[in-house]
Amino acid sequence: MSDVRVRFCPSPTGNPHVGMVRTALFNWAFARHHGGTFVFRIEDTDAARDSEDSYRMLLDALRWLGLDWDEGPEVGGAYGPYRQSERMDIYADVAQRLVDSGHAYPCYCTAEELEVAREEAKKAGRTPGYAGTCRHMSPQDRDQRIAEGRQPVIRFAMPDQDWTWDDLVRGELTFGRDHVPDYVIVRANGDPLYTLVNPVDDALMRITHVLRGEDLLSSTPRQIAMYAALADIGVGDGITPRFGHLPYVMGEGNRKLSKRDPESALLMYRDEGYLPEALLNYLALLGWSMGEDREFFSPRQMAEAFDITRVSPNPARFDLKKCTAINGDWMRSLAASDFVERIIPFLVRDAVIADPPTARQRQVLNEAAPLVQERMETLAQSADMLGFLFADPADFAIQPDQSVADDVSQQVLTAAMESLSPLEAWDSSTIEAALRTALIDGLSLKPKIAFGAVRIAVTGRRVSPPLFESMQILGREESLRRLQLARTT
Ligand code: GLU
Ligand code: ZN
Repeated sequence: MSDVRVRFCPSPTGNPHVGMVRTALFNWAFARHHGGTFVFRIEDTDAARDSEDSYRMLLDALRWLGLDWDEGPEVGGAYGPYRQSERMDIYADVAQRLVDSGHAYPCYCTAEELEVAREEAKKAGRTPGYAGTCRHMSPQDRDQRIAEGRQPVIRFAMPDQDWTWDDLVRGELTFGRDHVPDYVIVRANGDPLYTLVNPVDDALMRITHVLRGEDLLSSTPRQIAMYAALADIGVGDGITPRFGHLPYVMGEGNRKLSKRDPESALLMYRDEGYLPEALLNYLALLGWSMGEDREFFSPRQMAEAFDITRVSPNPARFDLKKCTAINGDWMRSLAASDFVERIIPFLVRDAVIADPPTARQRQVLNEAAPLVQERMETLAQSADMLGFLFADPADFAIQPDQSVADDVSQQVLTAAMESLSPLEAWDSSTIEAALRTALIDGLSLKPKIAFGAVRIAVTGRRVSPPLFESMQILGREESLRRLQLARTT
């Protein structure tokens, strides 16, 4: 299937969300697997809802994720332009040709008339839907409506037949003719609708496979009819794409994940320090499986293995905890130097280090990073984990529960200093041994109490990377200075 051409064609409204990216990812993997072409098309024909901001964010999001496209905005291609707002002439021309060839017709029905017809159909127990009034109208009736000054919409004339296709995910599907009435493709004001522009561009861009969400399933029969009409009037190469409908993604409480749910917001993952590879890895699992229970893989490995027949039709469940756990796996798998490069922007953002970091800060990070890499689940935790290294202990906010002013803590700090000052070597195991002897054995304290006070004095926090390693990285002088600063006596 080397001629595979798939498209990712979002509308730029609101913020990019994970459902959208899942669709992009599956199309991308399908294209890469088959050595095909991944087309990125922007469906921005709805001026009232689309925004330039959303468009920018979309591009930004795809770039961040590393989902590269072969044709589309910024890269061009043989079938451009790839923003539908720049293709309005094409749609007007195709709509006219569909009318001229009898595949579509003007419909003069008013909203009230349609409402009445709907009610009547309901009462009569028929499936409500456009009854085809204007399709079968006499020329006299038509002239009369024109004389009344009515502005028509354009409707597509659905052939009278049932609709069947072999879905790549769901197998054979059939929609009865009653469920697919004639539908509007151009508004009365001349604006073309999604129902027209989406299949027109699929045809013109030679799209061979459409992988998209299950929510669009009901529009598939009418699109299949449209591709046939387009072939008939010579728009495109006469290809009817194969369809594969990806399963719903469920959120909390077993309802569909909404783009308004906070965990849907794609750029939140970037801000919170998820790795793009990890997020894609997790999104891949929403409906697809690599087999052999393998749950950890790179986008490239996914593409290599991607087999559309392994996409499940059953709803997938979005689980932020699992997504975060996979991110942790990815963080641990990074080479130490790569890990440092990735945490630096977060430490800069959180004003922990300079921009760019000083040579000394880099050196500290190189030493400290391996200590925290195992324990972090997101890059955004960097400041929490490493901030103490760069902080001024005079600034340690002494929260009520972090006070070391009590007698026991003060006794601990004094004993700690006395045991550490004379040490010849300054490595974590020597530090640990000295503190154990002085505090646990010497003062008969529980480790939690003894080391807790030292930890607060040295790091300013109750929870920190391993204490003795932290002190090793801080160095003798700085560690002792911090212990001294915490002493009130
Ligand atoms: N612009 C449509 C959407 O975002 C594309 C649907 C499709 O893939 O056909 O819902
Ligand atoms: Zn009508």
